[in-house]
Formats: sequence, C-alpha cells, structure tokens
Amino acid sequence: MRTNVEHIVDPALPGSLVPPAATGSAPEVLSGSPSPELAAEMREVGERLEGAEPAEVLSWAVERFGDGLVLASSFQDCVLVDLAVAVEPRIRVVFLDTGFHFPETLAYLRRIERRYGLNLLVVEPELPPDVAPCGTPGCCQLRKVEPLSRALAGAKAWVTGLKRVDTPERANAPVVGWDGTKRLVKVNPIAAWTEDDVERYIVDRGLPRHPLSYVGYASIGCAPTTSPVAEGDDPRAGRWRGSDKTECGLHL
Ligand code: SF4
Repeated sequence: MRTNVEHIVDPALPGSLVPPAATGSAPEVLSGSPSPELAAEMREVGERLEGAEPAEVLSWAVERFGDGLVLASSFQDCVLVDLAVAVEPRIRVVFLDTGFHFPETLAYLRRIERRYGLNLLVVEPELPPDVAPCGTPGCCQLRKVEPLSRALAGAKAWVTGLKRVDTPERANAPVVGWDGTKRLVKVNPIAAWTEDDVERYIVDRGLPRHPLSYVGYASIGCAPTTSPVAEGDDPRAGRWRGSDKTECGLHL
C-alpha cells in the first residue's frame, strides 16, 4: 500500500528539480520536490531516526527548522502536544476549526492551551457553515486542506500525530519524510506507535483526556462524521461510518 507521504522524491526524476547551478543559490524546495541536498539529508535523517524516541525526533526537527516548524493537532488527545512542548515550549501549534467540531473538542482545546500556555493558532475556513456543509463535495478541502495550507505558509516542516496503525494508507508513513503535496518536510514522531503506546503515555503522564473519550469516541474529528465505537473495535471505525472515505485530505 502506498502512502501519500513519500520518504523522498527521487531528485533524479526528470523535471523535478532546478539544478542549484542554474539559480546561484537554490532554495530548499523547488517545483514540489526537495533540492538534492535536502533530499539527501532527509533520506539520511529518516533512516537514522527510524526507531528513535519521539522526543529525539522532535529535538532534531526543532533544531533543524526552528520557527519554520509547525505542529498540527486535532486535539483528540494532547499526546503530541505534550511531547513537543517538552522539547520546545513555544512550538507553533495549529488547530483547524472547521466549524463542525464537537463543543467538547473546542473546550478541550482551550483547556490544553491553558495547561501548556500554547503558542496556538486556530484557523477557520473562509466560508460560512451553510456553504458546502459537511458531507458535500469540497467541504474537507475548504474547511481543512485549504486552511492548513494557509497556516503552513512560510513553514519549512510540519509535525503530525499520524500513526501507521491508523489506516492501511498510513502503514508506510515515515518518521521523517517529504510531503510532496505541501512541499514541506513532514515529521511524524509517533508514526511507529500503537494505540497501546498512546494509552500508556497518557496514563504515565497523567494527561487530561478529551471528554468524549469517556463515552466511546476513540478517534475524534468533525461531529457529523464521528461516532463512538464498541470496545475493541478499530478506533477509526467511527470516522465517516458507512462511507468508504478514510482521509479528509490533510495527509494526501
Ligand atoms: S469531516 Fe465533514 S465537516 Fe469536517 S471538514 Fe470534512 S466534510 Fe467538512
């Protein structure tokens, strides 16, 4: 199964790169592909950090990208935030407020913002709720994908809580890779974690939980497309139930 997050686009692919010599000093990202130098670096780092603790991955990312690093969180839990602020308390955190979130998610967001004093940016779509509402074509694109693109403008890399166990499409997600769609380095510090790893971390750290996690919601997104699951079920079985959709487009 091919993931849409590629380890690295082959810099030798025709038309993917402008040679550094042609521009004097080449930018790191050209035409959707990384420069040869960045490609080589990401390849080396991706291999070296495979199997590393999330804190080590985040430490590398903070040191490498500084203010150019942005963490995106859905706030279904605060595991990734907790890991990241331990490395860099002022890391830029983005939440996409689609206008269709559960009130509990918005309350949890503010609770976590206060707990950590987060450097938080809440991004809203540029359209009212009655235009392209949930379930209509384009909603995820207009309420998630485009707002995320705006939030990532100028960034060098983004951090996600993506895990390989989430979906078959994510099974090969690298810890560090190139996101050819967003033209950024993508850092997935907990890519190799299981649901049990997440649960253990929450317990060990005594982290506050999303209120709906107590009533069967294991994976939490927009309210109209999120439902609780039975104990032992695939956590993402409650997302887009009855539909063959598994991704909103952020990780495509
Ligand atoms: S899950 Fe529904 S409301 Fe949320 S962005 Fe996608 S289509 Fe829109």
